[in-house]
Parts: sequence; structure tokens; C-alpha cells
Amino acid sequence: MVLALLLVRAGVEVTVLEKHGDFLRDFRGDTVHPSTLALLEDIGLAERFARLPQRRVTSVQLPIGPDRSLVTVGNIGALPGKYNYVAMVPQWDLLDLLADEAAKEPSFHLRMDTEATSFLIERGRVTGVRYRTADGGTGELRATLTVACDGRGSLARALPELGLEHFPCPMDAWWFRLPRREGDPSGLVGGLGERFFTALIDRGDYWQCAVLIPKGTDADRRAEGLERFMDRFTAAAPWLADRAKALTSWDDVKLLDVRLDRLRRWHRPGLLCIGDAAHAMSPVFGIGINLAVQDAVAAARYLVGPLREGAVGLRDVRRVQRRRRLTTVATQGLQRVAHTRVIEPLLAGRAAFGNPRRAKRMAELVTESRWLNRVPAYFLAYGALRERPPKESLR
Ligand SMILES: Cc1cc2nc3c(=O)[nH]c(=O)nc-3n(C[C@H](O)[C@H](O)[C@H](O)COP(=O)(O)OP(=O)(O)OC[C@H]3O[C@@H](n4cnc5c(N)ncnc54)[C@H](O)[C@@H]3O)c2cc1C
Repeated sequence: MVLALLLVRAGVEVTVLEKHGDFLRDFRGDTVHPSTLALLEDIGLAERFARLPQRRVTSVQLPIGPDRSLVTVGNIGALPGKYNYVAMVPQWDLLDLLADEAAKEPSFHLRMDTEATSFLIERGRVTGVRYRTADGGTGELRATLTVACDGRGSLARALPELGLEHFPCPMDAWWFRLPRREGDPSGLVGGLGERFFTALIDRGDYWQCAVLIPKGTDADRRAEGLERFMDRFTAAAPWLADRAKALTSWDDVKLLDVRLDRLRRWHRPGLLCIGDAAHAMSPVFGIGINLAVQDAVAAARYLVGPLREGAVGLRDVRRVQRRRRLTTVATQGLQRVAHTRVIEPLLAGRAAFGNPRRAKRMAELVTESRWLNRVPAYFLAYGALRERPPKESLR
């Protein structure tokens, strides 16, 4: 949607296919980072965005050390500039805002309830997609360039020449909601239970609860019973003890298979993959949305010219991957370190980083140094590489 908005503002004809009838979806992260907040300002949407219901998070805390006390490792609030926080905004509100803004341009077409089912390929070039609508209709849509931004289950991933690489992930996630009450904390609240992590996101009248469990243990854990789990969960978040009976069945708890992978090639003639379609991100650090948005901004900058001329060559799509690949590899590399050094041991009941005292000393060293402290904060806020939108899209 970001790419579509930037391109239609520059007069490029864009059709977005979305297989669902709305943007309401199971939880996939609500984080809008400083890089995206700055982008929204650049494209004249800061005021409208500020009116959306939101909570602000300024730091990330991790349980580190022998006592597993919380240490602040990413103090975004200490960064200079006005966007020194992560806005927690329901993703559908942001997508609705972007779609609404794009709809002001006559070259924007959004087809909801329309699922791309396969690529049209002519003489080795992707020339568009076949689609199916919710009412059973089918059709073909041709395009100068097809952008696969259909997430980690992308159609493009079936193309063997793009070469999908998988990396091990030690965890899966459970998602559920609990009512929020007067006197509860606010914002983002993390916690560590017996072989699970929790991240609780304040959504006003309810908590969106995420629980990380060791990969592949969903069925065994469910077999232990909901009551047992809720006892452990409320032991990790005692202020929620009065809501231990709010979940009545395992049907209220959804399993999300966490994956970390990427394509070796994000393109072929006529096709470009961006966001999770090119590189599925783990929820660690909550930066997958940021990366997907930055891919879109880079793609808009490199492709606006060729698209306006009606001819996008392999060289043009290659430039997008070349620009974004290193930052993706670096980010996924850090996620993999967090998986093996922090999440895996903690989920197995061991200490993070092998030696908890040394880990805590290192974390404190980073937090106490004004300059070192800014490195993780800047990385969380802006990612490894910040992209600028094309000037034609600014307002
Ligand atoms: C458990 C979990 C928690 C996470 N938490 C966070 C977080 O807090 N912060 C963060 O930044 N990241 C988080 N992430 C990562 C984040 O969700 C992704 O990196 C991000 O959503 C990628 O955006 P995207 O636009 O590439 O893909 P998606 O957000 O997956 O969007 C793809 C879109 O394409 C549509 N679609 C799919 N197939 C088709 C088709 N064939 N035809 C038409 N439409 C189609 C889908 O309906 C969807 O709307 C989390 C990931 C997981 C697994």
C-alpha cells in the first residue's frame, strides 16, 4: 500500500489486489517506527496519522542477568528528533489511511476480495497475474511490472529460480485477547514465564497478548489444559490474575508459525518481490513492518522513472534488491543471534547468552554509555538503512 501510494502520487497507474475483504486480520504487529512516522510526515499524512488511536513506546526492555531483571536495551526516547517513539497503531487503521489517501489519485485501483492465483508468463517475462474474486469470478490482469508484496506465503515463492532459503526458528507464537481494566499498566508490557515469553499490547479496552512457545510444542502444551496455561501465564503477569478465566476454550488462542527465510533473488523479468514475500521476518525486535515499508520506499524511488516511461528492465528491479539486500541480511542475522543466544536458551529454561552475569554487564555497559545506547535505539527506530521517497510523491 505504501508503494502504491508513492507511485500513484507520481502519476503511475497502480492496481492493488487484496485477497481479503478488509484489512482486519489476525495480529501481525502494530508497530509504526520513527522511519515510517518520518515518511508519513514527508508525504503530508502526519496529522491524519496522529489522529488515529495509538499508544507510544519509547524503549525496549529484555530480561537479562541471573535475576532476569529487565534491562533497557533500546532507548528510542533518548534519540534526537520529534519521532523518538514507536507508535502502536492497529495495522488496519494505517492501511485504511494509506488506501484512502491513494484513492484521491485517479490512477489508483484497489480490488478487495481479489486473490492473485498465478503469474502470467510470456516469453520468460511475468506480464501480470490471474486472479479469483470472492464471488467465484476469475480474470487476468496485465502489468508492466508485477510486485509480489503478498507476505510470507507469496505466490512468487513457488518460482524455483528465486531460491528460497530457510533459517531455523526456535519458537512459535500464540495470540489471544484479554479485557483491559482500569489501573492496568499501559503501552507494551513484556514478561518471562516458565519456558515462554509474553508481550502484551495495550489496545485501549483489551490486551493483545502474544506468547512465544518453543517451536513445535503447540499440541503438547494444549494437551496440558487451558487452566494450567492460564495459571502459568498469570504467574508471569500477576496483575492479570483476575482475568484467568476470561479465555474459555483453546479456540480463543491462535497459533502463528514463526518463520525466518529469504529469497536469493527478489526478481525476474517483470517481477519484483518486497517485504515478507522477499524475506519473512521473525517478530524479534518488531521490525518486519519497518523493513517492508522501507523496501516499498526504495522500490518507489528506483522504479518511478522506468514505470512512467512504461518500460521496467531487469536492471531496474535488480537495483532494488541490491539496495535492500544487505540491510535485510544484517537484520535477519541479528534476529538469528537473538534466536540462538536469547530466545532458545530462555525457552529451554537456561540463561540467555550462556553466562548471565556477563550478559548483564554487557547490557549495562551499553545502557550506561550515552553513545553506545544510541546504536540499538537507532537500529530499532530506523533500521540499518533509511530510505527517502521519490520527490514526486512528497506533499
Ligand atoms: C507472530 C508475529 C508477530 C510479528 N510482530 C511484528 C511487530 O510487532 N512489528 C513488526 O514490525 N513486525 C512484526 N512481525 C513481522 C511482520 O508481520 C511482517 O514482517 C510484515 O507484516 C510484512 O509486511 P508485508 O506487507 O510484506 O506482508 P503482510 O503484512 O503479510 O501483507 C501481505 C498482504 O497480502 C495479502 N495477500 C496474500 N496473498 C495474496 C494473494 N495471493 N492475492 C492477493 N492478496 C494477497 C494478505 O492478505 C496481506 O494483506 C511479526 C511477525 C510474526 C510472525
